Amino acid sequence: MNWMTVAWPMVTATCLTLALIHLRIATGESRRAAHLFFTFSAIAVAAISVLEAGILQSQDLATCQKLLRWSSLPVVVMVASILGFVGSFFGTGRPVLAYASITLLTIAHLVNFFSNAPAVRGAAALRHAETFGNIKYTLPVITRGPWTYAEIAAVVLAIAFVADASWAVWKRGERQRALIVGGSIVFFFLVSRGHTMLVEEGIVHSPYFVSFAFLAVIFAMGHELSGEVFRATRLSRELQESERRMDLAAQSANLGFWTWHLAKDEIWVSETTRELFETAPTEKINFARFVASLHPDDREQVTQAITHAIDSGSEYEKSYRIHLPRGGERWIVARGKVELSPQGKPLRMRGVLMDVSAQKLAEAELLQLRQQLAHAGRVSMMGQLASALAHELNQPLGAILRNAEAAELFLQAPQPDLQELRAIIGDIRNDDQRASQVIDRLRSLLKRQDIDLLPLQIPTLLDEVLALSRADATARGIRLEMASSPELPAIRGDRVHLQQVLLNLIINAMDAFHGLEREEKVVKVTSSHNDPGGVEIRVADNASGLPEKRESAIFEPFFTTKAHGMGMGLPISRTIVEAHGGTLSASNGENGGAVFSICIPAAQGLE
Ligand code: ADP
Repeated sequence: MNWMTVAWPMVTATCLTLALIHLRIATGESRRAAHLFFTFSAIAVAAISVLEAGILQSQDLATCQKLLRWSSLPVVVMVASILGFVGSFFGTGRPVLAYASITLLTIAHLVNFFSNAPAVRGAAALRHAETFGNIKYTLPVITRGPWTYAEIAAVVLAIAFVADASWAVWKRGERQRALIVGGSIVFFFLVSRGHTMLVEEGIVHSPYFVSFAFLAVIFAMGHELSGEVFRATRLSRELQESERRMDLAAQSANLGFWTWHLAKDEIWVSETTRELFETAPTEKINFARFVASLHPDDREQVTQAITHAIDSGSEYEKSYRIHLPRGGERWIVARGKVELSPQGKPLRMRGVLMDVSAQKLAEAELLQLRQQLAHAGRVSMMGQLASALAHELNQPLGAILRNAEAAELFLQAPQPDLQELRAIIGDIRNDDQRASQVIDRLRSLLKRQDIDLLPLQIPTLLDEVLALSRADATARGIRLEMASSPELPAIRGDRVHLQQVLLNLIINAMDAFHGLEREEKVVKVTSSHNDPGGVEIRVADNASGLPEKRESAIFEPFFTTKAHGMGMGLPISRTIVEAHGGTLSASNGENGGAVFSICIPAAQGLE
């Protein structure tokens, strides 16, 4: 055994192994063409290597000529598949150069293969030579035919194609790839063709080394291709990882995925989607099957929304109910997008869906709760109205009762004073009318209807209120005082409502003297200018002052310190004042009693 008997078979074996590996990869999805071209070039180089080894060992001229002729075929396949590889792997280059090269080479070698006289090259005689290590081998004396120049032209075109394609890749920024694949192909084309020429010119006496030169090219191509394979493997691992993460996220968000291939009418769904629809893992789903799972009331709407999305290329979003095979239903919200082909034809629809039954239930509960609240609100408003009425009517009813009692007393006299009786009856009528006004106004206020705002002069308002409460004050031994600053601006207000507020404050002040010993019991009602340009009405007493530590609670509904109080007077008064754009506040005065202050803005242009 010598190195020559080992070298060529090794080249053959290496090429065949690589060819097999890439043939296997080519059956996968990615870069199919590049792997196939690589496989063919590797097989071709293996075949060239077998033939070269055969020539070296050939004993007679006829065998050598035969082997030389047969080498035409793998040479054409090798060049064609290397060019094919470059074209498909780089995706660049001018195809015309490649086709011209392959056509020229194919014709030259076909002629060489079929003609009796050598068209490209042939063996005229055999020479026996010896190389280092005293290894004997046979060398053909080559005669060249006219088609040799066609072969040279084909090689030049091939080099031009590869150089051009590599230059484009270099410019794209993939310099290493351009250099390794493009550079090595150009280099070894030149080396191998140059060496062949030197051998054929008789300048160099050595065997052909075409297969050795192209073994390097095969390695370069294989290196880049396997780099791709490694990258693809890494990417697929990363993809799996990201898919796992996505699955986890989708599962925790209860998100299901779906893809509908429109042409095949096949719907792929994720595991979560299957669980949501309760479909068997093996069951095939198409659009009709999907529609059948929908609630009958939702079928048309959903179908319409999907058809519209496909026709218009817009997004689809819909919530619908589905019937579950094991009974019951589920609310689903789904979103989807149509994917179009480069020609704008809808290919598939892809989307997500989610179970929103819990939210829908909560929404329904919320609606029910809202209705209950609205009902409760109405009930409480009625309660408020009733309390307010009872409170506000107390005063006129009390006055009516007192006047009726007084009338009875007058009637017991032998000669009843008819004039006095008439006055009493007049008062009763007035109080009665006021009571009915109170009812109307309060009702409208609680219904949040607009109050009846009219220009009002403060002194007149205060006079009316004092006239209403004077009798009560006298009966309780309380002095009512009134003082108004001159030239107060007019305000816009509802007379009856504001009378009601002031009466409340005055009666509260008088009530505050209950059980108290005072030399002088005084309730002072004063009105004055207030910043900016408004009016302040104060009701001050010298009684007990506001309930200790509950100063702010007095405006809360139902807060009362009185045995028969209702705690509605102040909250209603504050509502009324605020409806006039003013404020009602309370504090303790300097002389120990309470001071209530009403601030109301002046009516524009009415001073
Ligand atoms: P009611 O008069 O039915 O108690 P109000 O809302 O009118 O309801 O008053 C609430 C509470 O405010 C009273 O019970 C009393 O404790 C306190 N209050 C009101 N006016 C005065 C005042 N002038 N002096 C002391 N306390 C007062």
